[in-house]
Amino acid sequence: MLYRPFGKTGKNISIISFGGMRFSEPENLDKSADCLLYAQEKGINYFDTAPIYCEDRSEDIFGHAFRQLPRDSFYVSSKCGQAKGEDLRKSLERSLRRLGIEQIDFLYIWHLMNPADWEERKRGGAIEAALQAKQEGLIGHLLCSSHMEGEGLSKVLDEEIFEGVLLGYNAINFPYRQAAVAQAGKQGIGIVTMNPLGGGLIPQNPQRFAFLKTATADNVVSGALQFNLSHPDITTALVGFANTQEIDQATGAVDNFTPYNKKQRRELQKNLKTSFADLCTGCSYCLPCPVNIPIPQYLDSYNQLILTDGNQQAVLNRYKMHWNITPQQAKECIACGACEERCTQHLPIIQRLAELPE
Ligand code: SF4
Ligand code: SF4
Repeated sequence: MLYRPFGKTGKNISIISFGGMRFSEPENLDKSADCLLYAQEKGINYFDTAPIYCEDRSEDIFGHAFRQLPRDSFYVSSKCGQAKGEDLRKSLERSLRRLGIEQIDFLYIWHLMNPADWEERKRGGAIEAALQAKQEGLIGHLLCSSHMEGEGLSKVLDEEIFEGVLLGYNAINFPYRQAAVAQAGKQGIGIVTMNPLGGGLIPQNPQRFAFLKTATADNVVSGALQFNLSHPDITTALVGFANTQEIDQATGAVDNFTPYNKKQRRELQKNLKTSFADLCTGCSYCLPCPVNIPIPQYLDSYNQLILTDGNQQAVLNRYKMHWNITPQQAKECIACGACEERCTQHLPIIQRLAELPE
């Protein structure tokens, strides 16, 4: 396993990190905790969880595993999504109790959706409460996680409050996040990428993603992870693991890994853009919408429909778990056509919004 410095925190973390949102049997504490212990044996030292993951059992599973490990053999991150300071504090104290530790190494201000949401977190006292907890030693470092498009997130990072960022970055959506990755890189803070496998879409569609394979990556999972980790500013790729086979596959993907050089990355990015002509890339050029429809989020959800051969539940999950949007707002489109004129992929946005499931 390779390790990289996590920004300026002084900590070195494994380039593959463990996401605790996909345990196959979360009610089985021993079996799920064994998965963490196995990952730790394979060299993974960064473990990410959150309240509510896996029917709210993920933090308990982590705690069960951590009680069997020396404290200096792992780093853990958890998250708080509250806007009010006192609510954040309660959530943080609950996480500490469940994890069975004195300090959470990395705490994320969770799921920043847009600039207004960011302002609300500040106004509500969440940031102040988190910084106070840091002063008290309850957390080691404060970071943020976000699905915001690159420019918006760059402005948040520019305030220099956070020591790292968790953002979605993969072979499908990378153009959407370039600006934030560049900003975090410029500031020298750590970058954790979530959904490096496109929320499972990449391994589920090996033929469609076959171009990700290279001389050193003989399958699409390896190709996707190597694409991600070849970016010089990305610290670690966070993979949600359901079993030990998936851990073997991800850790094997980066064994003896040499990052692609600039020319290889450019070539791959060019292929990615042309291979996804019918997919929304999340570039946001279609905005603004006169009735404020978050078009990139809905069109990203429509991507799921294409890539899963029409699985409507996959779209509904994407609304809820990834974007926190309602199905109804898509239907408020007044068909003015402004977005379609601007869409870089020339997508039939109006039709797609109408076809999205409710
Ligand atoms: S066509 Fe619909 S989604 Fe596109 S800009 Fe107009 S109202 Fe917004
Ligand atoms: S709908 Fe088109 S312009 Fe809008 S984010 Fe997607 S690809 Fe970009």
